[in-house]
Amino acid sequence: MAKPNYHVVLFPFPAHGHITPQLTLAARLHQFHPNLNITLVSTPRNIASIRSSLPPTSPLQLHSLPFCPSDHGLITDSESTDDLPIGQLGKFFIAMESCRAAFDHFITEASKQSTVCIVSDMHLGWTLDVARKHYAFHSSFLGTSAFSGAIFLSVMMNLPHNHSDSEPFTLPEYPEVLVHRSQLAEHILKASLTDPPTVFLQKQLSTLYKTDALLINSTEYFDPVGLDLHPLASVLYISFGSQDSIQKSQMMELALGLEASGRPFIWVIRPPLGFDAKDEFKDEWLPDGFEKRMKEENRGFFVHGWAPQIAILSHKSIGAFLSHCGWNSVLESLNSGVPIIGWSLQAEQPFNVTLLVNLGVCFEVSRGKLETSEVKKVVVAETVEMVMGDNEKGHIMREKAKEISKMMKRAWKDESCTSAKGLAEFLKLLQRVTDN
Ligand code: UDP
Repeated sequence: MAKPNYHVVLFPFPAHGHITPQLTLAARLHQFHPNLNITLVSTPRNIASIRSSLPPTSPLQLHSLPFCPSDHGLITDSESTDDLPIGQLGKFFIAMESCRAAFDHFITEASKQSTVCIVSDMHLGWTLDVARKHYAFHSSFLGTSAFSGAIFLSVMMNLPHNHSDSEPFTLPEYPEVLVHRSQLAEHILKASLTDPPTVFLQKQLSTLYKTDALLINSTEYFDPVGLDLHPLASVLYISFGSQDSIQKSQMMELALGLEASGRPFIWVIRPPLGFDAKDEFKDEWLPDGFEKRMKEENRGFFVHGWAPQIAILSHKSIGAFLSHCGWNSVLESLNSGVPIIGWSLQAEQPFNVTLLVNLGVCFEVSRGKLETSEVKKVVVAETVEMVMGDNEKGHIMREKAKEISKMMKRAWKDESCTSAKGLAEFLKLLQRVTDN
């Protein structure tokens, strides 16, 4: 049976700078959604201190999770960074996981009444396991700007930085940002991959890649969403899926074709075939000065790593998807009404392209990843123009993609719809087989 209401459970890291923004978040949620049930959980001393600071009329509920600092070699009463002797932060990070059982119990009980949405500090990544166990929604709260948070995350995930090579240095995910060692705290400079606090922190931060949503305490003024700068359906998204890549020579032609097309793009770019996917990206794999030029012109945005594909495809500025036509990518694109430029690489992908071309939502730009399957920059530019430009074929294709998007949504609208019916048939069959 559907649960009637939502229960938002806030869990800040016990430090002033982490608790305050979550209290502000609670106030905003109450302001705009007065019917939401909201609880902030923390250790007893923090809860007592928050309780004394809240007006008696505050609708925010508070819940204490037992915590015993001395069990973790911390001095008595160290329940927030305010009370913590310098140098004990690492221990404190680890100690917070001792709240897991009590937090799990609280979520178990809350889930019986409502649909639970956990808002967890990014340093308490272990809360994701609890959320998954109870089928609760999980979000990570980033108490800093998206820019600084992203760089900090990359710094922490690419340790160590104490070696004496170039200064300043760059991070694999953000080759355009120069980092000076003087910008890194001493404990980060000294961190080794075997320190328990470092290992623990990396594990917590890695949940930022897996959580259901990121809440960032910033505004578009500090962290403009790049895509919002572009008009409706004007940006091309390019990705060859989660595992594949193309030849260096193909990458060159694709880049030149994109430049010639004059259209803005987002390219999820991996090292070319023959190189390790984890290798640092090298400028020489692209035409001379290409990445820098495209960024300066605000035309090209490069993702070196994992892109939030579904969110990108659902953005109103995306006009087409140059895809290897893996089936998930196809579904995600058409679900958002985005037409496809097909460049299949392997498996059943070429047949997906055939299907899509027959449906009128795709032009094939190239096929295969061998050097023999050449793509020429003019073909790239012409195909992009055909799909995205102001011409009859493109217009028809875009309309068709929108129509398919509507049909895909309709397939699940209610029990009488095609996909919902298919699933019901399957369950009937299952019942018949298991009953016998
Ligand atoms: N994906 C993503 N970000 C990336 C690359 C891939 O989110 O940077 C996701 C994409 O949304 C899709 C899946 O990975 O759900 C790729 O599946 P698909 O069937 O398209 O291709 P495969 O990776 O299996 O070749």
